[in-house]
Amino acid sequence: MTRLQGKTALITGAARGIGRAFAEGYVREGARVAIADIDIGRARQTAAEIGEAAIAIELDVTQQDSIDAAVAQIIAAFGQIDILINNAAIFTAAPLVEIERADYQRVFDINVSGTLFMMQAVARHMIEQGIRGRIINMASQAGRRGEPLVAVYCATKAAVISLTQSAGLNLIPHGINVNAIAPGVVDGEHWDGVDAFFARYEGKAPGQKKAEVGASVPYGRMGQASDLTGMAVFLASDEAAYIVAQTYNVDGGQWMS
Ligand code: NAD
Repeated sequence: MTRLQGKTALITGAARGIGRAFAEGYVREGARVAIADIDIGRARQTAAEIGEAAIAIELDVTQQDSIDAAVAQIIAAFGQIDILINNAAIFTAAPLVEIERADYQRVFDINVSGTLFMMQAVARHMIEQGIRGRIINMASQAGRRGEPLVAVYCATKAAVISLTQSAGLNLIPHGINVNAIAPGVVDGEHWDGVDAFFARYEGKAPGQKKAEVGASVPYGRMGQASDLTGMAVFLASDEAAYIVAQTYNVDGGQWMS
C-alpha cells in the first residue's frame, strides 16, 4: 500500500464525504494530504482523525485570494503539491421555470469556476517546479445526461467533463495528467440536501428519493465513498501515466441502465 509514497495531495471539500474517503485512502497509500474546505472546523476535525499525514486548510474555491492563500500554505507545509483533487461541489434542483439566477451563479461558481481556477493555480505551481503532477476532477453521472429537475447541477458536471478534456490536452506538454471520475449515486451527508429538494418538488417523504435511487442502481445498492477510492488512487499512481483527459464512470452500472 505505498503507491503514493512521498506524494502530497490537495483535496478540496475533503472535510466530509467522498473527499474525506479520498484523503484516508491516499494516506493509506503513503501520501500526505491537505484537507482544504470552506468548513474549516470540520476540516480540522477530519485532519485530526486521519492523523499526522493530514493538515487542514481553509479554502473557498470561489475566491481567488482564498485559492492563492491555500495553495501557498500547502506548499509551505509540504514543499510541493503533486496531486490536486477538485472534489468540492454543491447540489441544487428546481423545475426549469423556478431556477433562480443567484442559485445558478453560486453553483456554477463552486462547481465549475472553482474547478477551473484551482486547476490553474496548482498547474502554475507544477509547471514552475517541473512537477509531473496529477489533477483529478469530480464529475458525475449527472454530467453525462440531463435530469428533469437538475438542469443546473447537471450542466456544471457536464462542464467539468469538458474542462477535463481541454485542460488534459493543454497540460500534456508539461507532464501533468488531468482526468475525472463520474460517480453514480453515493451515500453520505450530501443526500440530506438532495432529499430536501425532492421532498419539496416531488412530495417525497424524507429518505424516499434516496431509497428509490439506491434501488435503481444495477449493482443493487448505492455507492459508498470508499467504492471510489481505488480509482482516485489509480489515477494518481504511476500506473496511470498514459491516461489523459478521460472521465471514468464508477457507478455500479448506472450509466448503462
Ligand atoms: P459533500 O456535500 O458531502 O461534501 C462537499 C464538501 O465540499 C463539503 O465538505 C463542503 O464544506 C465543501 N465545500 C462546499 N463549498 C465549498 C467551497 N466554496 N470551497 C471549498 N469547499 C467547499 O459532497 P460529496 O457527496 O462528498 O461529493 C463530493 C463530490 O462528488 C462532489 O463534486 C459531487 O458533485 C460529486 N458527486 C457526488 C455524488 C453523490 O451522490 N454524493 C454523486 C456524483 C458526484
